[in-house]
Amino acid sequence: MKIIVVASARPNFMKVAPILAELRRTPDRFEPVFVHTGQHYDAKMSESFLNDLGLGQPDISMGIGSGSQAVMTARTMESFETVILDEKPDMVVVVGDVTPTMACTLVCAKLMIPVAHVEAGLRSFDRGMPEEINRIVTDGIADLLLTPSPEADQQLIREGVSADRIHFVGNVMIDTLVKCMPKIEKSTVIDSLGLEAQAFALLTLHRPSNVDSSEPLEEILDALVVIGEKLPIVFSVHPRTRKMIDEFNLRERLEAIPNLIDLQPQPYFDFLQLQRSARLVLTDSGGVQEETTFLGIPCLTLRENTERPVTITSGTNVLTGPHRDAIVQEASQVLSGSAKSGQIPDLWDGKAAERIVAVLSQYL
Ligand code: UDP
Repeated sequence: MKIIVVASARPNFMKVAPILAELRRTPDRFEPVFVHTGQHYDAKMSESFLNDLGLGQPDISMGIGSGSQAVMTARTMESFETVILDEKPDMVVVVGDVTPTMACTLVCAKLMIPVAHVEAGLRSFDRGMPEEINRIVTDGIADLLLTPSPEADQQLIREGVSADRIHFVGNVMIDTLVKCMPKIEKSTVIDSLGLEAQAFALLTLHRPSNVDSSEPLEEILDALVVIGEKLPIVFSVHPRTRKMIDEFNLRERLEAIPNLIDLQPQPYFDFLQLQRSARLVLTDSGGVQEETTFLGIPCLTLRENTERPVTITSGTNVLTGPHRDAIVQEASQVLSGSAKSGQIPDLWDGKAAERIVAVLSQYL
């Protein structure tokens, strides 16, 4: 059975790695084809993850690059259609909520190739997020919807999806985290940055709603000024965010934040070492909300909503929005020792890829 597994951007690599590894384990049954659409293509956002996560070079690199939503959708569809016609797969697996995930699913639906969507059923109910449109369209037409939490199953049922398309398999990103833990523990990044475990905050920021206009970005920078007085802040700056900081002439404001360590995007092992050693994580990333819940690290999500409510109901996550006062208040709560405690959600156990491949097998 030939199965194409698609990745496009940084958050996809940690999701496809365990699925590809599981498919590659039984070469007599599966012929996995790893396709990289190329939304992220530079060393720090792509190559480093291919190497560290043992993915190897893609079998097919489409080289689409990034662009506006429409351009990325159109270019990905055009190129992926050729891939499908050439390769004639039995099935395609897409992950997450990036725009190429939606575009590849559309191509398959039109060509009657079965598609499995891993990380189905997540909804922020905020259609201003490009990812929300990608989630709704992908789940609307994919054949198999593989979910990370029972809440996601319930959401799909509410949308009228028939139960036989839905399979609760758990969180495949956590498979990668569990498998890589020995290497993460060996990372020396904390020492190299002159930090002490439990004595710094970690920050990531890249959602368009936070960085594509100056107002939320400035509010967040204002909150960092207050937090930076209390402990060092390690900021892994996404390329999009760095570009927007420059465009809004906010570089001086960033540099004026006390104790801020400005970093390029970090390799996976170092970044996870930073997460598990942080006193507090501030983020608008989807994946980081989940990883902090798994690691039991307090997380402030600088957004008004989350498509991952289980990180709030079970985990360590708190929503602050991009609001200075709310961020400062929640951070103070954590630093004063009264952080919210959490539990690891069901089936975030390192075995999601096994369950995914079992579902694919049964379907095929
Ligand atoms: N990540 C990383 N290095 C960094 C920042 C993030 O390895 O400098 C990892 C993070 O641990 C998680 C994934 O990238 O596994 C999340 O990707 P991102 O925040 O870009 O996307 P999102 O999850 O918001 O879609």
